[in-house]
Amino acid sequence: MIRILGLRVDQVNMEQALARLSEAIAAFRAGKSRGAQVVTINPEGIWLARGDEQLRRIIEEAYLVTPDGSGVLWAAARQGKILDERVTGIDLLYRLCERAAEEQWRVYLLGAKPGIADEAAARLRLAYPHLLIVGRENGYFRDREEQVICEIAASRPDILFAALGMPYQEKWLAANIEKLGCAVMIGVGGSFDVIAGRVRRAPRLLQRLRLEWLWRLLHDPRRWRRFLAIPRFMAAVRREIKNNNEK
Ligand code: UDP
Repeated sequence: MIRILGLRVDQVNMEQALARLSEAIAAFRAGKSRGAQVVTINPEGIWLARGDEQLRRIIEEAYLVTPDGSGVLWAAARQGKILDERVTGIDLLYRLCERAAEEQWRVYLLGAKPGIADEAAARLRLAYPHLLIVGRENGYFRDREEQVICEIAASRPDILFAALGMPYQEKWLAANIEKLGCAVMIGVGGSFDVIAGRVRRAPRLLQRLRLEWLWRLLHDPRRWRRFLAIPRFMAAVRREIKNNNEK
């Protein structure tokens, strides 16, 4: 585990993350776990958590915290720590669905605007014909929250993907972990919009150049306020390293 601005990030690549989640499902089935929460943390998330005690605690207590965002890899490298690759929510979702289809793990999709989770489910089934999607629900359920929780628990998913946006999804999962009764719970932000084809993900070249954030900013300029966190994050990381070197 490494720390970036005091926040925990686990040193895992995609294969290692998948192995850990496989273990979590086995442990849950054996009655040895009450459910494992996964946080995929990017620079905006780290920045947010610095001023949000509740989110910080969730990150500390999570089963797994994966490095999401090239800024996290950059910050680790500045400390001389190597993170192999980004483990983003959407990539984890695809890889978990692939494995779920092989292992017959049960999957639930919660979040995004009405109709989007249905569309995402249809597309995932096309990609992984044996995938067992045991339920779907949109992410605007404040007035019937208990009912939604009961429906999720009753469908006994092994993996719950919650696409409610950060930090709401992390807080909601942490608050309801016992009632949800899922082996693995992951916040995946805007992933369903991308899977459903409503939002286009950055081309691979931009992803490789670590410029996915720029693509997102250009496509959704309303996000600019959130993106201000990135230069602030980078300045704070530089400052922290300088201070440590001077000690
Ligand atoms: N969303 C939701 N319920 C809410 C608020 C947001 O389901 O109460 C969904 C929204 O429709 C979108 C996702 O959460 O699909 C947030 O996407 P965004 O890209 O903003 O999240 P991030 O990846 O930054 O966490």
